Amino acid sequence: MLKKLLYLLSFLPLAIPVSAAPPVSAAPPLPEAGKAEALPPRLKAALDAVSAQRLQDHIAFLASDSLEGRDTPSRGLDRAAEYIAGQFKRAQLEPAGDDGYFQTADDPIIRRFLASRPYRLKNVAGLLRGSDPALKESYLLVTAHYDGLGVKAGEGDGIFNGANDNASGVASMIELASVFSSAKVRPRRSLLFIAFFGEEKRMLGSRYYARHPLVPLDQTVGMVNLEQLGRTDDSEGTRIASANLTGFDFTTMSSTFERAGKLTGINVAKHPGKSDAYFPLSDNIALAELGIPAHTLSVAYHFPDYHGPEDHSDRIDVENLRKVNRMIAAALYLLADSSGVPRWDEDQPKAQPYIAAWKKRFGRPAEKPEASGGSPSRPGE
Ligand SMILES: [Zn+2]
Repeated sequence: MLKKLLYLLSFLPLAIPVSAAPPVSAAPPLPEAGKAEALPPRLKAALDAVSAQRLQDHIAFLASDSLEGRDTPSRGLDRAAEYIAGQFKRAQLEPAGDDGYFQTADDPIIRRFLASRPYRLKNVAGLLRGSDPALKESYLLVTAHYDGLGVKAGEGDGIFNGANDNASGVASMIELASVFSSAKVRPRRSLLFIAFFGEEKRMLGSRYYARHPLVPLDQTVGMVNLEQLGRTDDSEGTRIASANLTGFDFTTMSSTFERAGKLTGINVAKHPGKSDAYFPLSDNIALAELGIPAHTLSVAYHFPDYHGPEDHSDRIDVENLRKVNRMIAAALYLLADSSGVPRWDEDQPKAQPYIAAWKKRFGRPAEKPEASGGSPSRPGE
């Protein structure tokens, strides 16, 4: 019964008219309830360009022993940053850092963390400009942490390769950037792709970003953080063609993801126990605390080698990862092309701190959830 109710509820956003900005196109025809929406051809072509081989190659490199588990700070982490910057360049993203694609992290908190260790910590940031003259000045963040746990003597081979956590998220971010960059269809808002250092060190990189944003926070409409997308052998059971979003009921973004899931054959759902509990446990929290709707998307929350030395790239389900990436691409398109912006749901008790931050930032009460999806008739027109 509950399942049926949730299913019906998931169609609601389609029935609510987009309201925020002046209409840019005629209201799209609504699909009949229960019938799948068709993907517009040009958007479908972009989604179909997602490559399992490239995803596998990125993960194999980032999680290779030579990067020594990408501890913050370390040589391996620096090599990973160089690799990501190279991939952003290849995808023809605009450099969005202070040093090309690098956002050099330097403030008292970072200096205290580094003590006298001779490393330069950096986030890696690349921008894909939106297609609309006005809306391109607003930004959707697509992020993933590129650090890992490094090397610990005495456990396995000692190298914590972090293939699923989180080479899988970084590889997806790179692939999504590449696919959007070469696609014939481009969302109206801009996408800012960021790889964060230091997630495993109390989210040092994303918190640095929150203190030193590269684009105005007031123009940042939301954040999609990618974590642990590659393993389907969740400790609770196999997870094929499915994905979870933390803080599922907190904002309207989940309804857009559900819709993207229906368009691409992925079941995007709320994990009953972990959706809310895991909301503060990844980089999305740094932006949520500033009032910006921000979630983490994952396939498996807990898997056998989680934070262990056996989190190797050959255990990634690459074909499933490709399918999940298609869904993410559809969701990013819908979010970044929409006239409306994601909203916090004021009725959610657990979202109250973030709603308070939103009100403080934007100076008016959060509106009731609406305008989350964008119009299905626009893409590919
Ligand atoms: Zn992680």
